[in-house]
Amino acid sequence: NTRIVLASRPSGRVKSDNFRVEHQPIPAPGKGEVLLKILFLSLDPYMRGRMDDAKSYAAPVAVGNVMEGGTVAEVIASNNDHYAAGDIVLSHSGWQSYAISDGKGLTRLDPKLAPVSTALGVLGMPGFTAYAGLLTIGRPQPGETVVVAAASGPVGSAVGQIARIKGARAVGIAGGPDKCAFIRNELGFDAAIDHRAPDFPEQLKQACPGGIDVYFENVGGPVWDAVFPLLNSFARIPVCGLISQYSGIAPSETDRLPGVMRAVLTKSLTIRGFIQREFVDQRPAFLQAMPEWLRAGQVKYREDIVDGLTNAPEAFMGLLEGRNFGKLIVRVA
Ligand code: NDP
Repeated sequence: NTRIVLASRPSGRVKSDNFRVEHQPIPAPGKGEVLLKILFLSLDPYMRGRMDDAKSYAAPVAVGNVMEGGTVAEVIASNNDHYAAGDIVLSHSGWQSYAISDGKGLTRLDPKLAPVSTALGVLGMPGFTAYAGLLTIGRPQPGETVVVAAASGPVGSAVGQIARIKGARAVGIAGGPDKCAFIRNELGFDAAIDHRAPDFPEQLKQACPGGIDVYFENVGGPVWDAVFPLLNSFARIPVCGLISQYSGIAPSETDRLPGVMRAVLTKSLTIRGFIQREFVDQRPAFLQAMPEWLRAGQVKYREDIVDGLTNAPEAFMGLLEGRNFGKLIVRVA
């Protein structure tokens, strides 16, 4: 069994020596347990938070423990009445090639319904995050303008496409011309802006002539600075992620909080943070809607699949810098 453990906590940017590869014998399932062979491992921005011991909504990974993560796995031996060898399941087995489970928290997947890797992306946690955050907090109305960054990734790409399904204009922000071309030409966003362009704030303004009604916040930092002056009265801002800050925040020269609070008041803004699991009661509706949108071609998705578990650390460091292009997944077996 190959596993990747947290070797040390990063200070600032993640480095490869924050991880360690270990090899152990494949474990044997005990009474009521199953042995899982991991097929796919999801790499997600939240894992950066688990590497720190700062107080957050979830406990950190302990130094020396296997890195946490969502996985798609095959049951290869079972002492559990509910699962049989050959079943494909969604599990939370972390960065390793085999795992033991008592069956709690496993979800059986039907490979005939969709490629099983989609359970980690468009049909899984990131797709659900987009659905619940946008529709519950963002509430896009026909004709409104919705802006989202990290727009070629699993959350942002779904946000923009669902916004369009609801009749809104979708303006996507992404890093580089290839991602921008993809969200505009393949995903059908109404406009795509490269946040690395020197005149990015001006381009964003041009793309939002009627201002911004919903800003789905994924990144923070300079993108937020460019969005902020364009917010309309009664704008809604689901705060989903702040990836530009995950490796530490550069000290700001000025305290911008008073200006933000003034706008919250004078423009009646709604800024609401959320963690997707708070909306668990909406999962059935999501699992109804999203497969239909996929079948109808109203939602498209892109996966970025990296081969080999030992390449996970490098791929994860790339995710935090925008080197992934689509939902980042490691093919473990
Ligand atoms: P992505 O696959 O989109 O990967 C992250 C992307 O963020 C990168 O590809 C890069 O895209 C962009 N990025 C990285 N650094 C910066 C930066 N400094 N400025 C601007 N953009 C940057 O990730 P996900 O779709 O999985 O996640 C998107 C966001 O949603 C994250 O913030 C994540 O933490 C959050 N999230 C929150 C959840 C919740 O429950 N609240 C659940 C799931 C995700 P580009 O090259 O286009 O800039």
